[in-house]
Amino acid sequence: MFFSFLPEEAKRIYEDLGEMSPASYALRFATGFDGMMMVLSGMSDMAQMQDNLSFMKDFQPLSTKEQEAVKQVTEIFKSKNFIPCIACRYCMEKCPKNIAIPDLFA
Ligand code: SF4
Repeated sequence: MFFSFLPEEAKRIYEDLGEMSPASYALRFATGFDGMMMVLSGMSDMAQMQDNLSFMKDFQPLSTKEQEAVKQVTEIFKSKNFIPCIACRYCMEKCPKNIAIPDLFA
């Protein structure tokens, strides 16, 4: 689902790195912090779970080149002033006022 929100220029940066999914860079970025013991990843289907397993099974932190790519993609996102909401709707389950937060962001 998130992939559809990836701007074309950001997609190209990740494609130039190789075969790994855009999500893999985000998860490996988060997992690479010193002392990190657990990273949660929302998965919607079997393909996403298999993707996560493919790079988390024998975890490798981001290389310097991959870190640079993540920085470039971050700058692209910042330049577009996106609201960092992926419409997972987790917030709606607990909202005491039933505000459709992701719909309002969209
Ligand atoms: S604002 Fe709500 S729907 Fe959007 S990412 Fe956060 S929890 Fe998910």
